[in-house]
Amino acid sequence: MKNIVVALLALLATTTALAATPWQKITQPIAGSAQSIGAFSNGCIVGAEALPLQSDNYQVMRTEQLRYFGHPDLILFIQRLSNQVYNLGLGTVLIGDMGMPAGGRFNGGHASHQSGLDVDVFLQLPKTRWTASQLMRPQALDLVAADGKHVVPSLWKPEITSLIKLAAKDNDVTRIFVNAAIKQQLCLDAGTDRDWLRKVRPWFQHRAHMHVRLRCPANSLECEDQPPPPPGDGCGAELQSWFEPPKPGSTKPVKKTPPPLPPSCQALLDEHVL
Ligand SMILES: [Zn+2]
Repeated sequence: MKNIVVALLALLATTTALAATPWQKITQPIAGSAQSIGAFSNGCIVGAEALPLQSDNYQVMRTEQLRYFGHPDLILFIQRLSNQVYNLGLGTVLIGDMGMPAGGRFNGGHASHQSGLDVDVFLQLPKTRWTASQLMRPQALDLVAADGKHVVPSLWKPEITSLIKLAAKDNDVTRIFVNAAIKQQLCLDAGTDRDWLRKVRPWFQHRAHMHVRLRCPANSLECEDQPPPPPGDGCGAELQSWFEPPKPGSTKPVKKTPPPLPPSCQALLDEHVL
């Protein structure tokens, strides 16, 4: 009897996992020249590359989830950023979710990270390398105080500003999402060199990591870019609106049903997932 229950539970678990998203069944990149297809929140990728898991300059977290794939431009960006951080002696860059081997929607968590152009980077730069078990179960460092309006002074380090600034100054980067309290701290730290702040956008959560997004690669003809962020450093009224109570009548964004996949992504699923 017990065995039957265990078997049924296992079956149920499998069915639930299968119901989650078909993209997770693809465990190898789709062969072909690299193409990011569709939107960041509704897309896929052909010819993705795996981020090399061995590096002196960065470490990759939770590799068992197979989320360390992306467009070659994303791989190059991560290597460029972590080389700069390493050469400045700031510490080791901790890499979180990138995309799955063929991109597409994860089960739970992110809506974006679908076209191989997004990466989450922890906002901590350890001076000694993390162990395998630390990388398996990473301890996120919540940098935002309980009031949601400030960073925790004892946790905020100048090298975090340097890390975000280096990423924002990269030509391939179009947007970086961080919590509004973190953006506010960057506005205070920036001094007179402020152009890079334009790319740093306040967003929900993102209290322990930044989410970096690259522009569509030039030869990815089906890739959909976003309009550029509004002009200016974004440190004024727009940022302050994040700290105000919601206006009466305004509601939380409702979860919409996802739009249909771009035809090329649907074709890819039809071909590779039974
Ligand atoms: Zn992200």
